[in-house]
Amino acid sequence: MANDASTVFDVVILGGGSGGYAAALRAAQLGLQVALIEKGKLGGTCLHNGCIPTKALLHAGEVADQTRESAGFGVKATFEGIDIQGVHAYKDGVVSGLYKGLQGLVASRKITYVSGEGRLSSPTTVDVNGERYTGRHILLATGSVPKSLPGLAIDGNRVISSDHALTLDRVPQSVIVLGGGVIGVEFASVWKSFGAEVTIIEALPHLAPGGRELLQAAGARLPQARHQVRAGRALRRGRVHRDRCPRLAGERQADRGRADARGRRPRPGLGGPGLRGGRGRHGPRLCPGRRVHADQRPHHLRRGRPGADPPAGARRLRRGHPGRRAAGRPQGRADRLRRCPRVTYCNPEVASVGISEAKAKELYGEDKVVTAKFNLAGNGKSKILKTAGEIKLVQVKDGAVVGVHMVGERMGEQVGEAQLIYNWEALPSEVAQLIHAHPTQNEALGEAHLALAGKPLHNHD
Ligand SMILES: Cc1cc2nc3c(=O)[nH]c(=O)nc-3n(C[C@H](O)[C@H](O)[C@H](O)COP(=O)(O)OP(=O)(O)OC[C@H]3O[C@@H](n4cnc5c(N)ncnc54)[C@H](O)[C@@H]3O)c2cc1C
Repeated sequence: MANDASTVFDVVILGGGSGGYAAALRAAQLGLQVALIEKGKLGGTCLHNGCIPTKALLHAGEVADQTRESAGFGVKATFEGIDIQGVHAYKDGVVSGLYKGLQGLVASRKITYVSGEGRLSSPTTVDVNGERYTGRHILLATGSVPKSLPGLAIDGNRVISSDHALTLDRVPQSVIVLGGGVIGVEFASVWKSFGAEVTIIEALPHLAPGGRELLQAAGARLPQARHQVRAGRALRRGRVHRDRCPRLAGERQADRGRADARGRRPRPGLGGPGLRGGRGRHGPRLCPGRRVHADQRPHHLRRGRPGADPPAGARRLRRGHPGRRAAGRPQGRADRLRRCPRVTYCNPEVASVGISEAKAKELYGEDKVVTAKFNLAGNGKSKILKTAGEIKLVQVKDGAVVGVHMVGERMGEQVGEAQLIYNWEALPSEVAQLIHAHPTQNEALGEAHLALAGKPLHNHD
């Protein structure tokens, strides 16, 4: 839309992904005048290339698995294969419905929505389509893009990113997934369910970072059981040979600490020509075509070094961190920062909130930490679903539950209660007296707390 050059917005937001649009909605709610600039589609990675389409693919994979296993439930069905165009039509239907809803929401909140690529021209101005937008505050929410290994260019054919994987017009016969983090494990799950042969290569000794706590305990039930996994192995570079599969070179990494397997990097190229790089004391200073350095005081959330930030899942961005907080800051109404639930939506799902047993021991002392486990084998609904898994609780002795770790089909759905338990610093005895509906997988959380409170009910261990 045309811009009145004299307008000074309270906030100009660059990027309409989960972080940007949530900040825009919140800022508008606070009565601020907001401009939201998006060069692609409102909703960004999460809606169009991330959370939503991947979960639709995972659900299609679940349907495929259930069809294969239908005889075990007394249902006659034959799995004939994947109609990949049909899968995409289903996935795209989900995305477009949500996209329409989001467009309507933003339009209803008196937000000035600008479609076009923005360039920071100064710490208070953004240029888009030949127009200049001035803001008392500029919020950078431009997200990230997939990255590869040196020598291994993403060609969209044999070397593909998660963006390509979402629109792939075939089920590959065999795939190597580089990185066993949340995104890698999810795609591995999808392709495995669709019938591909999958190998995951991960630098850390385990997959699915959020589920570290249960990886050993749950053993064969974890994603390892479904895929060939080469963990503890970092790939340093790769080479694509014409007409042949890419060759990858690596080294043992098990004891070399964390290697980055997230596969994404901050989006480059925000600043216009002639802008100076560097870290400003009060606001962004700009690097042409590179990174924006900014004030990193956490209470201001002017984090300019995107590469240095921890990965922020979309749920964190939508539920108030950091986009909504930053939007609240100009009026001094920062939302409280909550600890985040983590879910890896592979099959089975791995979900957790709080800290691990090891971290609790480090923080509170070896003899000050108590744990309890509940095996899903003792849970009626899990039996009905034929899923296996476990819930592990970590408690500070005579104190609150500081870690909830779950693995099993649909365990991601249980992380809501786990998050309340953690954030309200509940005692096991308090949770143990709550009645959990029967038969649900949610009962397993109650059972684990009963065990931790010294009153195990259906515990087989
Ligand atoms: C495959 C995959 C699966 C994922 N699954 C989950 C999940 O299940 N749960 C979860 O919580 N998170 C998930 N994530 C992470 C989640 O998608 C991101 O955390 C989230 O999208 C980040 O939001 P953002 O607003 O920071 O960036 P983005 O969503 O990337 O939004 C940035 C926006 O800025 C726009 N933009 C960039 N530069 C400019 C410019 N110069 N001018 C105008 N516009 C610009 C882009 O077009 C984009 O729309 C997943 C990510 C991927 C890739």
